[in-house]
Amino acid sequence: MSQQVNALPVCKYEKSCGACSLQHMSYAEQLERKQDSVKKLWKKEAKVLPIIGMNFPYYYRNKCQAVFAKRGGNVIYGTYEQGTHHVVPITDCQIQNKESNAILHTIAELLKSFKVQIFNEDTGTGNFRYTLIRKGYQSNEIMVVLVVATPVFPSKKNFVKALVKKHPEITTVVMNINDRTDSMILGEREEILYGPGKIEDTLMGCKFLISSKSFYQINSLQTKKLYQAAIDAAGLTGEERILDAYCGIGTIGLIASKSAKELVGVELNHDAVKDARKNAKRNGMKSAEFICGDAGEYMVKAAERGEHFDVVFMDPPRAGSDEAFLSSLVKLAPKKVVYVSCNPETQKRDIEYLKKKGYRMGDIQPVDMFPFTEHCETVVLLSQQKPDDHIKLCTRNQI
Ligand code: SAH
Repeated sequence: MSQQVNALPVCKYEKSCGACSLQHMSYAEQLERKQDSVKKLWKKEAKVLPIIGMNFPYYYRNKCQAVFAKRGGNVIYGTYEQGTHHVVPITDCQIQNKESNAILHTIAELLKSFKVQIFNEDTGTGNFRYTLIRKGYQSNEIMVVLVVATPVFPSKKNFVKALVKKHPEITTVVMNINDRTDSMILGEREEILYGPGKIEDTLMGCKFLISSKSFYQINSLQTKKLYQAAIDAAGLTGEERILDAYCGIGTIGLIASKSAKELVGVELNHDAVKDARKNAKRNGMKSAEFICGDAGEYMVKAAERGEHFDVVFMDPPRAGSDEAFLSSLVKLAPKKVVYVSCNPETQKRDIEYLKKKGYRMGDIQPVDMFPFTEHCETVVLLSQQKPDDHIKLCTRNQI
């Protein structure tokens, strides 16, 4: 477990913001707590390796989002107080990258000087709602997404000019139109106001295009450790046909396919799949195919067609996988399944299913991707029991 070197003072928004529920703990205590919770979950069923933590667990987020509101004639920005739609002003978040904090500050000032109407949720009046900022970890490219209720943003050209002048590190600005009444930050429609509309980043030697709506792991430093653990677990030789299920923009699969023969990726989000296809080309991966659709449905059809995969990487959302996916996975019978999870509980449920169907689980590797929050990421290798293992087990049971 890595230890924290220099601790910053407890965040001043700790109570009102609520996003970092472990603020009151030292980083070493946080890691211990996460380690213990995975251990408690699995009891004696599996070995939990020491959690991989950060040396400096601050300013790690490469993506930030802020809600804007008007209060007493001032433009404020921050987050919704937990469980409410009351905006808590946050100007200096300790887990957000520092450039984003500064850009948000400038946007609030510009909104005021350009007299842009801020959206009011109660009355449905005004226009400006949220800002989303993404920063490439290695490229340092920055995307700013200005989220508005209607496309009528009269001064947008000059607004963007002033923003980029103050922050030349911004490489693209996108206007996103969101007239939804739920708490989703981004709407469907977008207009590029400056630059290419996407950013590019390099991770573990591969280049990735990232658009506003695509999933991209938010802690790049820890992502490298997480992906490395997953790829090491797969033990690739260069000959494998691999599947990257729930692949996002294709990161795990494309990095892994440097040591494999062929890659198929499957992902529900349209934009992410488009990015994944471009990413394959950008990295010169000729034998990579990306399919847009539900991973479970894809697996059912792949099992019907009798496809073959040597290794399946799966990285589902917090809800975990589903019966359609898992039962077809068993039919496809890859030798190895590498399960990357952002929710150890649903991962356990799914692994238990796979164990009953003949897979043997290896050790659990927790990785701390989200310091100061309760979340913990885990990687587990599942291998098919060899036929003679099965015979040994049966004989032992008979004795
Ligand atoms: N492996 C990627 C993404 C992991 S996040 C990475 O490391 O970046 C989980 C991904 O699953 C998201 O991109 C989400 O859009 C996708 N997803 C969610 N439900 C899905 C489903 N039913 N079928 C396929 N993909 C799904």
